[in-house]
Amino acid sequence: MRLSTITNWAYGATVALTLLSGSTMLLASGAEQRERAAVAQRATFDQLTASLEEDVYRLSEQARSFVVTGNPSHLIVYRRERAALRSVEDRVRYLKNAGARVGELQALQQALYWADALMDEQDAALQAARQGDDRTARAILFGDEYGREMDRIAGQVAKFRYLLETRTEQAVAAATETARQWRSMSEIMLAATALLFLCVLYFILKQRILHPVVRLSDVVTRLAAQDYAAIPPDLRQVDEIGDMAQAIRIFRENGLERQRLEQEQERNRAMRDLLSRMTQRLQGCDSMTDLAEVVRRFTPEIAPLFAGRLYVQDSRTALMQQVCTWGSPTFSRPDFPPSACWALRRGQPHRPAGRTIDIGCDHMDEGGDAPTLCIPLIAQGESIGLLYLEQRPEASADEVGRSEKYLEMLAENIGLALANLRLRDALREMAMADALTGLANRRHFDQMLKHHTEQAERHQSPLSCLILDIDHFKQFNDQFGHDAGDAVLQAVGQVLGQAMREKGHAFRLGGEEFVLLMPGFAPDQALERANSVQRDIRNLMVEHRGKPLGPVTASFGLATFPDHGSADRLLRTADAALLRAKRNGRDRIILATERDPSASEAA
Ligand code: GH3
Ligand code: MG
Ligand code: MG
Repeated sequence: MRLSTITNWAYGATVALTLLSGSTMLLASGAEQRERAAVAQRATFDQLTASLEEDVYRLSEQARSFVVTGNPSHLIVYRRERAALRSVEDRVRYLKNAGARVGELQALQQALYWADALMDEQDAALQAARQGDDRTARAILFGDEYGREMDRIAGQVAKFRYLLETRTEQAVAAATETARQWRSMSEIMLAATALLFLCVLYFILKQRILHPVVRLSDVVTRLAAQDYAAIPPDLRQVDEIGDMAQAIRIFRENGLERQRLEQEQERNRAMRDLLSRMTQRLQGCDSMTDLAEVVRRFTPEIAPLFAGRLYVQDSRTALMQQVCTWGSPTFSRPDFPPSACWALRRGQPHRPAGRTIDIGCDHMDEGGDAPTLCIPLIAQGESIGLLYLEQRPEASADEVGRSEKYLEMLAENIGLALANLRLRDALREMAMADALTGLANRRHFDQMLKHHTEQAERHQSPLSCLILDIDHFKQFNDQFGHDAGDAVLQAVGQVLGQAMREKGHAFRLGGEEFVLLMPGFAPDQALERANSVQRDIRNLMVEHRGKPLGPVTASFGLATFPDHGSADRLLRTADAALLRAKRNGRDRIILATERDPSASEAA
């Protein structure tokens, strides 16, 4: 109900009550008039009875005065007043008209008849007096009988007055009581009107205005402070307060929506920052270990709703190998062939369980129905890795939907970083490898020598270095051509690569010179390995264009740290031993002697 309706009803009730109290006031005033009329009637009766008694006494007085004094003026006054008196009927009628009752009038009439009889006696006395019979006149006017008649008239008038007074007293009392009742009624009505008015005012002010306004004001204050947990009261009343509550509700909904958008923007910004930082770190990765560490640290932050694994294709085995994992995923094997994954087969993200029916991947031992997501890592159209994700059970569909766009960006970044790393590895390998033999080259050897000498010195572990030079190699070139020479170099390179397959490193230093670096090899072990290599080279049957190129031999110089001098002079010491091998007739192994004097020569 609208406030205006309530107010109108309240006005109506107030007006009705006011009219009612007005009517009671009028009734009270009517009663008061009746009270006044009763009082006035009593006064009239009082006056009439008083004049009646007065008339009797005055006439009697005049008659007695004439009899006693003989003064005719008393007789004149007597006659005039006697003539002026109305008849008994007139007086009774007059009193009847004035409201006297029958009983009262009977009492009065009796008194009037007695008064008339008395006046007849007076007339007789006056008649006697005029005729000179004073004695008779005096006997009449001053006799006992006259006095008794006078008393009887006075008694009858007193009776009439008593009757009148009793009745008028009652009438006045009744009228006064009625007037008092109506006045009280009117006052009660007035008080009820005022009370109703105050009640309505209180209800409107407190229940319909003050209370809701205080609650709304509290909500508005909290909303202004961006506390959207404040819920506007559900005021469904159809009035201005209800309209205000509705407006505040809309204001809150708008605020919540704005807050949600701001939070989403903030999340987006934070996520982009995170992705950007991850990308920077990925670009700085030198090795697969670095890359795996970056992915392991950043991915749970970017996609907290998923556990996962990162797979990278092993170039030797062509299998997808797990390089890191986060959030303890339950399914998917640590390695598998690329054909086992539908994402890798199709080159597109694959989600077997979900809203649409799809086929599960073979790299999952179990959990075919689990909400998993495989995103292929693609570089130059080739799948080089796989981002495997398992959705956490507590993740809601909404949250997953929101994080999916970041997952694609994440996969793209990891894919790019992986491709860069591969490219860098390939370039490094190319820079470090000898193109002809496939062995590591001089540059690589320098790095490895430095690394291993430092290690050997730090741990005081042996490090052997075997340097070898093909004997009379120039003759192969000269006799069979440069290609034949190359074939010999390749064959020797193969022997050395095989020899160092499990432990140690083989390098081509340049031309027809090679070196084997054997960390942890004492002189005895190294010599044994040198003998084996020498034997293998001797056994080589190199052919070029179907023609055998003849036997191949080489000269060897072997030095071991710490037996044959300091680590930093290891290569020179071995080289000196090689020189001696050449000088001593080639096709032999010379073990360096402690503090080989020719080492300083070679230097
Ligand atoms: P020695 O027994 O004293 O070591 O005699 P040698 O002929 O092996 O040594 P020399 O230094 O006289 O000859 C080395 C030759 O190797 C000279 C060079 O033309 C040749 N050579 C260097 N690099 C290559 C290469 O990559 N391929 C071919 N085919 N020949 C090369
Ligand atoms: Mg040489
Ligand atoms: Mg040579």
